[in-house]
Amino acid sequence: MRLLDVLLPDRCLACGRVGAPLCDRCRAGLVRLAPPVCELCGAPGPWPVRRCAECSGRRLAFARARAAIVYDERARTVVRGWKEGGRRGVAEVAASLVVDVVPKPEVDALVPAPGDPERTLARGRSSPTALATALAASWGLPVLDLLRRTRPLPPQRGLALAERRRNVRGSVVALRAAPERLCLVDDVYTSGATADACAAALRQAGARRVEVVTLARAVR
Ligand SMILES: [Zn+2]
Ligand SMILES: [Zn+2]
Repeated sequence: MRLLDVLLPDRCLACGRVGAPLCDRCRAGLVRLAPPVCELCGAPGPWPVRRCAECSGRRLAFARARAAIVYDERARTVVRGWKEGGRRGVAEVAASLVVDVVPKPEVDALVPAPGDPERTLARGRSSPTALATALAASWGLPVLDLLRRTRPLPPQRGLALAERRRNVRGSVVALRAAPERLCLVDDVYTSGATADACAAALRQAGARRVEVVTLARAVR
């Protein structure tokens, strides 16, 4: 236990109220990504589709992506607090939100998206690793730490989709041979570029099917 954990009371990451990492009211206020969603990329829509406006015409290395909540202002505050604070118990809360909404994937193992090496060292376990570990406990699946970044990721903010993709492709590698069916775990799905780069690296290492599960998803 760190000294700060002893000195400071636990507060809700979203509203600051003393107590659990996410209070009941803020948890209820997060927008669930219930079906119907796009079969491939998980974008919500008025009815189920195999491809949607967001993913049609894009070559994506993953077979499907699913998320628990919409990445809105409240979700952003929670994710930011989680990444910056490295608080204990938050990954378990995030995993319980995912398990509530996303069916267990039919895969051999969960693979955390790779963190920025320097930031991960400074903060201990990365948020994708913590989420994958908590999900693995709920779903009874192993975690395989297979991916590494080959270089720090340049800032993605403000880039168009095609530029994001170029930015990320080739920035992730698999460390060894991958089993056939895997599920990548990350905190947020924004453009899908990171998920695509990670899935491409896993498929190059031998995976035949890669699914993606994230806590939150940006919705256009
Ligand atoms: Zn709250
Ligand atoms: Zn789609």
